[in-house]
Amino acid sequence: MTSIDPNEITVVAAGPLASQSLTEAIGRLTGDAGLYFFDAISPIVDGETINFDIAFMAARYGKGGDDYANCPMNEEEYGRFYEALISAESVRPHEGMEDEAKYFEGCLPIEELARRGRDTLRYGPMKPVGLTDPRTGRQPFAVVQLRKENILADAYNLVGFQCHIKYGDQKRVLQTIPGLETSEFIRFGQMHRNTYICSPRLLNETLQMKEHPLVLFAGQISGIEGYTEAMATGMIAGMNAARLALGLEASAPPRRSATGSLVFYLANAEAKNFQPANTTFALLPPFEPEERKRVKRKADRHRIQVERGLEAFREWLETIGESSSLSNYAQAR
Ligand SMILES: Cc1cc2nc3c(=O)[nH]c(=O)nc-3n(C[C@H](O)[C@H](O)[C@H](O)COP(=O)(O)OP(=O)(O)OC[C@H]3O[C@@H](n4cnc5c(N)ncnc54)[C@H](O)[C@@H]3O)c2cc1C
Repeated sequence: MTSIDPNEITVVAAGPLASQSLTEAIGRLTGDAGLYFFDAISPIVDGETINFDIAFMAARYGKGGDDYANCPMNEEEYGRFYEALISAESVRPHEGMEDEAKYFEGCLPIEELARRGRDTLRYGPMKPVGLTDPRTGRQPFAVVQLRKENILADAYNLVGFQCHIKYGDQKRVLQTIPGLETSEFIRFGQMHRNTYICSPRLLNETLQMKEHPLVLFAGQISGIEGYTEAMATGMIAGMNAARLALGLEASAPPRRSATGSLVFYLANAEAKNFQPANTTFALLPPFEPEERKRVKRKADRHRIQVERGLEAFREWLETIGESSSLSNYAQAR
């Protein structure tokens, strides 16, 4: 496929390495701001595993609410973190992609910034100005800021920590940060070539383009990552393409289900810093505070989320008249 006719029902599922001519055709439909060519993803940490005896909530100079968790470092702690960072092993570029670094101009990986000098990070993403550590009453030597994700419940993004380090080493480096010593990471940082659209600007939860409703997107190019996520969005886009062909309205699965929460993310994430997502529990609607107090164990909360998700998904299939065809399919298997 080299072009897209917005008047024809079309599912675009060309993946992260969509061919040149098709990428240009997509660019014409989305406009410049709608298409990305690389990922620069910061690690995301499970908020429940941050040690808030050390980390504290505050914004620089007290401005802009307290959506930031701050992990303060003294000089010695910074030294330990720095040594771990510069000795960590980076991912090698894929063969033939050695010049991919050019895509990342203006968005350097944190290990590269560190190599420029011992204090570069303290004047960049780890600058401590405008922050006071409540434990000492003083400005820390350096700070790691974590921003609360707006759709991922209980998840925090390490601001400016995009990196190219192997996952094992990344965990080791990140766990030298005071407050994150025993933290669990929902996703590690990555920087790689990836063609994907800015879905929150362009797509509805049905995976149709807002401007061109006969054109649907699925798979990694729609802003997801992973095998099951690619299949799930492929299924929704395929079902909706068929519904449009039959003169029916397109439909989106409920947010309570895993697939529903994925398409909800695509349509409703913050467009400005949009980054591709995997399916995680953090994508599902968060528990109400009261219920959360009642169900203390994380494993129990996850079980309840799964049960609710499956129930909501089955109800949705009934409503749109797809349950019989799917159960026939399951029986045939
Ligand atoms: C090395 C590596 C390891 C991975 N490991 C995992 C893993 O362990 N688990 C996991 O969940 N995910 C993994 N992933 C991610 C996963 O592979 C992708 O997210 C997923 O395969 C994307 O599926 P897709 O259908 O969107 O794209 P793709 O699988 O890339 O399929 C897109 C298809 O469209 C075709 N195409 C492109 N342009 C055109 C055109 N103009 N006309 C017609 N066809 C076109 C391509 O040739 C391709 O066949 C890995 C990815 C990589 C690179």
